[in-house]
Amino acid sequence: MTKLTRADLDALPTYLPGRNPADVARELGLAEAIKLASNEVPYGPLPGVVEAVAEAVAGVHRYPDMGVVALREALARRHDIPADRIATGCGSVALCEHLARATCLPGDEIVYSWRSFEAYPIIAAITGVTSVRVPNTADHGHDLSAMADAITDRTRVVIVCNPNNPTGTSIRRADLDRFLDAVPDDVVVVIDEAYREFVTDAEVPDAVRTYRDRPNVVVLRTLSKAWGLAGLRVGFMVAQPEVAATVRKVITPFSTNTAAQAGALAALAQEDEVRRRCALVTAERDRLTESVRKLGVDVPDSQANFIWLPLGDGAAAFGTACESRGVIVRPFQGDGVRVTVGTPQENDAFLTAAESALP
Ligand code: PMP
Repeated sequence: MTKLTRADLDALPTYLPGRNPADVARELGLAEAIKLASNEVPYGPLPGVVEAVAEAVAGVHRYPDMGVVALREALARRHDIPADRIATGCGSVALCEHLARATCLPGDEIVYSWRSFEAYPIIAAITGVTSVRVPNTADHGHDLSAMADAITDRTRVVIVCNPNNPTGTSIRRADLDRFLDAVPDDVVVVIDEAYREFVTDAEVPDAVRTYRDRPNVVVLRTLSKAWGLAGLRVGFMVAQPEVAATVRKVITPFSTNTAAQAGALAALAQEDEVRRRCALVTAERDRLTESVRKLGVDVPDSQANFIWLPLGDGAAAFGTACESRGVIVRPFQGDGVRVTVGTPQENDAFLTAAESALP
């Protein structure tokens, strides 16, 4: 049959979501399975979100507000920046792709650390951009000096994931300052802060606040994690007005939909509850880290809502063994396993599974 799609996309890895717990439970004959695979927060939607979405869906025969004005203004107030510096999108993953489209031509280069968020190579491939992967340091973090050295005349974007998915490692202010100073002015530095709300180390900078006056810095945030809106798909970008305006042109029209806009506004009104939930998550993160270290795994310090077990070739078998005990985690074959922090009970179930799954 005549090939109708781009041949270069055949080798593209598919973005793999965490397995559905209902499917896993059915396969195992269990009442339920525990999902610790997608870095969601386990406490349900924030108060008021379900009601706001229900009210908004009464108007779904109309298109959403194309300018996302109320939500962008609420985000602008929260971050003390003008709304013209904000673009929202269908998750921050979509914004990352839109930014690549807004900045790169085919053959240009995007530099990022590896291993990091698995969407980066997919976005690069889709947009015809060359991926330049800089290996993580031995302690699973970004090698910022090697990343700076990897920048060439073709580099348009460098992505810094802070904290890094899936290793949980983070970069402190002095190191990030030095890196930003070393990057040429015409290269965009994307600081992906999907897990910012879980950062407890005061030395790890809030890039929206800290780097607001650096013109080539673009910050990505999401409401999927701490704000509990993964299913509504809301991410946002903070950039210079000209960059944000170009990205808003590139975005698929209306991609922050009616329910997403209403749910996000309701969630943003729950800042105190978000803080309370994040404190529970980060306390559990630190408990999990210590417990898994006691099992003999060299877990790096995490500033996110997940931990990383660098199990190398044992990663896939560990993932399968946990799943057979009803706990779904995220193995990255040949490398490690990422485990999302759940409720204390869920984490205990993971620790029990991990104890028997480890060799
Ligand atoms: N960046 C990072 C580092 C992530 O881990 C994720 C989600 N896994 C995202 C961006 C995308 O989040 P969303 O599209 O749900 O906003």
